Amino acid sequence: MKNIIIFGAPGSGKGTYSDEIVARYGMGHISTGDVLRAEIKNGTELGKLAKGIIDKGQLIPDDLMIDILAKVYDEQEPGKGVIFDGFPRTIAQAEALKKMLAERGHEMGNMIELIVDEETLMARLLNRAKEQGRADDNEETIKARFDVYHKQTEPLAEWFGKEGIRHTFTWKGDKEIMLKEIFDFLDK
Ligand code: AMP
Repeated sequence: MKNIIIFGAPGSGKGTYSDEIVARYGMGHISTGDVLRAEIKNGTELGKLAKGIIDKGQLIPDDLMIDILAKVYDEQEPGKGVIFDGFPRTIAQAEALKKMLAERGHEMGNMIELIVDEETLMARLLNRAKEQGRADDNEETIKARFDVYHKQTEPLAEWFGKEGIRHTFTWKGDKEIMLKEIFDFLDK
């Protein structure tokens, strides 16, 4: 299986669809948000730094994030393909990912972009706050995360377009429809 980069706003379903893709194709899964939350839980130095940034809805500095990503990537089982969930979030991270993979003789694979209207995103994140109690799922932090997404991450979609690997899937109000469209594409 080729690598996959799953891309979209906070609440667009990156984690949910990643889990479905992993279950179907048996590939590796790197969620940088999960990696950081584990560091926070374990009380590491990185976790302490990350917590202050995540709680404000801001991004971890690129250099640090790129080092973490390369380390986690090298721990994956070789040859199975990996789904990158929540990385890259800036152009610098995307350039670094491309270079890191090229150095290992690997490719970025396909980028799957999830497009969801902002009203649905906000409703999902507030609901997740109730269900999972994620510290950064409160209205103020969500707004900051949307802002960061529009300014720093969204321009990357075009970058992937230029790489020729951008594939867009738009939310039509039903998870099964979205999933079928994604699977139909990946099955090809
Ligand atoms: P996520 O679970 O992907 O929504 O990530 C939660 C938070 O972790 C983000 O709001 C950022 O503060 C931080 N984070 C996750 N991935 C990255 C990344 N690639 N670059 C910078 N910060 C990140």
